[in-house]
Amino acid sequence: MPQAQSGPRVIVVGAGVVGCSIAFHLARMGAQAAVFDKGPICAGMTARSGALVRMHYTFAPEADLAWKSLTYFENWPRMVGGRCGFVPTGFAVVVGPENGHKLRANVAMLKSIGVETDLLEPDLLQKIEPAARVDDLGLAAYEPRSGYADPVATTEAFAAAAQKLGASFTLNTPIAALATNAGRAAGVTDVSGKTHHADFVCIAAGPWTDTLLAPFGLKIGLKPERAQIAFFRKSPALRHCIFIDTIAGSYFRPHGDDLTMAGFGALHPDTQTDPDSFKQSNDAEFIEAARARLARRIPAMKDAPFVRGHAGIYDVSPDARAAIGPIAAIPGLYVAAGFSGTGFKTSPAVGAAMAELIVSGKSGTADLTPFSFERFAAGELIHTPNEYTMGAGFGHTL
Ligand SMILES: Cc1cc2nc3c(=O)[nH]c(=O)nc-3n(C[C@H](O)[C@H](O)[C@H](O)COP(=O)(O)OP(=O)(O)OC[C@H]3O[C@@H](n4cnc5c(N)ncnc54)[C@H](O)[C@@H]3O)c2cc1C
Repeated sequence: MPQAQSGPRVIVVGAGVVGCSIAFHLARMGAQAAVFDKGPICAGMTARSGALVRMHYTFAPEADLAWKSLTYFENWPRMVGGRCGFVPTGFAVVVGPENGHKLRANVAMLKSIGVETDLLEPDLLQKIEPAARVDDLGLAAYEPRSGYADPVATTEAFAAAAQKLGASFTLNTPIAALATNAGRAAGVTDVSGKTHHADFVCIAAGPWTDTLLAPFGLKIGLKPERAQIAFFRKSPALRHCIFIDTIAGSYFRPHGDDLTMAGFGALHPDTQTDPDSFKQSNDAEFIEAARARLARRIPAMKDAPFVRGHAGIYDVSPDARAAIGPIAAIPGLYVAAGFSGTGFKTSPAVGAAMAELIVSGKSGTADLTPFSFERFAAGELIHTPNEYTMGAGFGHTL
């Protein structure tokens, strides 16, 4: 039986992992959360995610969100309920000699916010990861507690827990416009013309977010960019952890005992992609390139058979970091979008921090001010000094 809530009425547009996490945390705080999606739960890009859960970022506030989210993935039944399918595997980011000083600086930064990570010389990494080629490495950073989760199960678990706490979900109902009253967010109008009223509105609509903001002359400046992942058959005897390989320009992880998932995308491809109409299957060239980049690090995967794969869309912001927080021009309006290909792993803490901000005006879980929406219009883009030079087409920043 859903609980009756009496707190502020909050409409969340988007039932991806971000919207469902926000709804769960809102409901937990006693708010009346109402989620709208143009499709079913998890109809957007979350279902296409590689779902890596790692802490290694070059931007401390983002690493902080990932670190705080790890607690959820590790304690899911107690903290949310249901299952998220988290599998701890360990994670290594590997760099060439030219990036070694940056890796050292980033690991120091990560340790300063509490992340469990260590620098490993190549010979030490080889001991942990005997299947990996290490002769071209300068240095590695290793996170023993990182892993991967099931993105659909995670989103559905957030949604089920939110519903149990009284949140409502109105699905297959596209939102056509935001409603305002005297310049303040007042609700949303769906495609049938019906207006749903609320005290606050939060847009978590992934690559579709700017469309809802456009009538107000507002935008993040999102570029929808197509990225692909592919699954290759591996022998169960061949073990490896998750890698971000800055030299080859790819990321890969085990998937169960007998598959390896590998991916990369293009950070700024020449052609833009429509998130409602894009080629969902893999390109043949991608499959070959993904296997070659994987085999550069795990040579035993050189002839690994392709099993399946798909494409998805990254919602890439002008500085490849998300906008998370209020939109000052319209009091009562909030946004959580522009995660630029990395928003699965941070969704638990993003949901908690956003719900706190909306309900109490202050976010205790994490400081969201670095992710301000206004930075884009002001031209104050986030720049991290220790960003790595990446193998061609890796697809996103770290
Ligand atoms: C190939 C790929 C691999 C990735 N790998 C990783 C990874 O390994 N680790 C990681 O952390 N992140 C990864 N990501 C990124 C991560 O998956 C996304 O950042 C995250 O899932 C975004 O969630 P979201 O809820 O913001 O968006 P979405 O899941 O896209 O949800 C947005 C929702 O809004 C709804 N919507 C849109 N417009 C409207 C409207 N007008 N009315 C009503 N509803 C609307 C959509 O239907 C959709 O359900 C990957 C992404 C891709 C594509």
